[in-house]
Amino acid sequence: MKSNFKLYCIVTAFLSLPGLNVTASDTTGTAFNLDEVAPGIYVHSGVHVPFEDPQHDDIANTGFIIGNDCVAVIDTGGSVRVGQQLLDSLKSVTDKPVCYVINTHVHFDHVLGNVVFKSGDTKFVGHTDLADAMAASSGFFIEEFRDDLGEYANADGIVAPTVLVEDTLELDLGDRVLLLKAWPVAHTHTDLTVLDRKTNTLWLADLLFIERIPALDGSLKGWLAVIDQLEKEQYATIIPGHGPVVSDWPEDLKPQKQYLTMLLEQIRKRIAEGAFMEEVVETVGEQEKQDWLLHEQHHKRNVTKAFTELEWE
Ligand SMILES: [Zn+2]
Ligand SMILES: [Zn+2]
Repeated sequence: MKSNFKLYCIVTAFLSLPGLNVTASDTTGTAFNLDEVAPGIYVHSGVHVPFEDPQHDDIANTGFIIGNDCVAVIDTGGSVRVGQQLLDSLKSVTDKPVCYVINTHVHFDHVLGNVVFKSGDTKFVGHTDLADAMAASSGFFIEEFRDDLGEYANADGIVAPTVLVEDTLELDLGDRVLLLKAWPVAHTHTDLTVLDRKTNTLWLADLLFIERIPALDGSLKGWLAVIDQLEKEQYATIIPGHGPVVSDWPEDLKPQKQYLTMLLEQIRKRIAEGAFMEEVVETVGEQEKQDWLLHEQHHKRNVTKAFTELEWE
């Protein structure tokens, strides 16, 4: 599974978001986008580029939420460079301290910038299984993302959470309470969401993919069960892990739900017919090619993952 991280997260277009726009430049002069998507909630939109692209470290949506007393950062990007740009952007918006760095799951594009935020007062927060998952991935991260980690390409540079969420946890940023929720296995086995009660904004991260094809790295049935729960709720704003921030809920969930449901139904049917995995991988879901960016790179892996889950039902 780990060897496929390099294939993970590859898309093809820039995103734009409404609201206040703040930009900062890195040493290469590239503007670092940042938008206020709800009062006090800032999102940096990841770019859709292939892994081979120099910006492969900046493919995930990251950002922060500002309370009266302090700030919570949510995901830190796929390199020290991106983490630093996020921190610089944050400092251009507020001088309040970062009290929490919340990681939504174990994938590299969401956690490798953590080290930049390491300081005595900042607590790192994640799913109850995230610390172990990061420890297990540490060697892979250091080896595979050596350039992206730079001087931090060592065990101390992979910063795992110490505040672990087993079910739910409330974090008070000062007149602003965030409700964190750890989910059963879905996109990964370390998925965590953040609800800002003040604006009813749900930071859903990679439990929602928009535009680019969802990447299944946990459980297909688990992910669909999470979707069933989420679509019963009402949210003003939703921040996906990849793709634009949206506000038409649960309508925005439909394409992903349709894709995952198609996988479940068609793979189950082929297994019942006695088909081998190789044939199923070649045939299921090929007609959905037009609907998703990066179908070519991720779809077959999704089918393989789902097949291994469903064949023992
Ligand atoms: Zn991601
Ligand atoms: Zn992910």
